[in-house]
Amino acid sequence: MSGIIAVDIGGTQIRAAVYPQQGITPTRVRRIATVSGEGSVFDRMAALIESVRLEETVEAVSVATAGQMDLQTGVIVNSPNIPGWDHFPLRSRLEEKFAVPVFIGNDANLAALGEWKYGAGQGHNDLLYLTISTGIGGGVISRGCLLEGAHGMAAELGHVIVLPDGPLCSCGVRGHLEAIASGPSIARCVSEEIASGRASRLAKVTDFSARDVAEAARLGDELANEAFQRAGKYLGQAVADFLHIFNPSIVIFGGGVSLSGALLLDPVRASMQRLVMTPDYLDGLQIVLAQLGDDAGLLGALAQARLKLSELSPTG
Ligand SMILES: [Zn+2]
Repeated sequence: MSGIIAVDIGGTQIRAAVYPQQGITPTRVRRIATVSGEGSVFDRMAALIESVRLEETVEAVSVATAGQMDLQTGVIVNSPNIPGWDHFPLRSRLEEKFAVPVFIGNDANLAALGEWKYGAGQGHNDLLYLTISTGIGGGVISRGCLLEGAHGMAAELGHVIVLPDGPLCSCGVRGHLEAIASGPSIARCVSEEIASGRASRLAKVTDFSARDVAEAARLGDELANEAFQRAGKYLGQAVADFLHIFNPSIVIFGGGVSLSGALLLDPVRASMQRLVMTPDYLDGLQIVLAQLGDDAGLLGALAQARLKLSELSPTG
């Protein structure tokens, strides 16, 4: 039996799973905390991979992780989750350790790939994926190819300016979509309004999340509702721009904030409909929620490995 090891490096945990040659059911999955007092992240991750490998022949190791990376060199340029992984040569370190082909990719790009191959985007050749959670990430499939760019840093769809001189983004630039429509940004918008004297059922809650804001909105809280209207409006504005650039046949929303459903997606649709150049962009366009949930990173990494291996040996 030969398998592929997929690894998903998240902010709180690192998961490694072994997948057989066919299908998307792993034969083994293990996880560790991303941050721990003991040992380097790389050493602990390598031990995790070793522990799922056991006696199996491994064809490849494929890793999904957040941040920017240079796909030509396999170097992590910058990692928001792992201190010290600036310009870290992840691919070569793993290749030295395991002596098999190693593939790395941005987690949002790979989630787009996973949704395309195994989830909500199956059957589409032109797909746009947006994940809305702590940040906003994106991925684009165009004519059946994952858009990577010259260095692999394409499709940072959360880092587009939707409000010049607007709120400061985690990346340091003002007015990015992420600074307005991510989960923490939605919660921050509500707390700022409360601080300036607006009434809300969240006024008595000390530390609330976008999920709490969604709950309050469902219970009729006007301010909470406005926060989602605002986030959805700017998200729709960005998506209208993306439709003009990529002309997808499906837009997939993933990430925790997307689970607020119509609360977010209704204003997204309204904004898009208002801002597209011609309604033809919306003709047959599907707007759906992601299907892979927490497994998007692992299955995206699996999809990446299968694609790259088939490129390495097209007849095999
Ligand atoms: Zn940004």
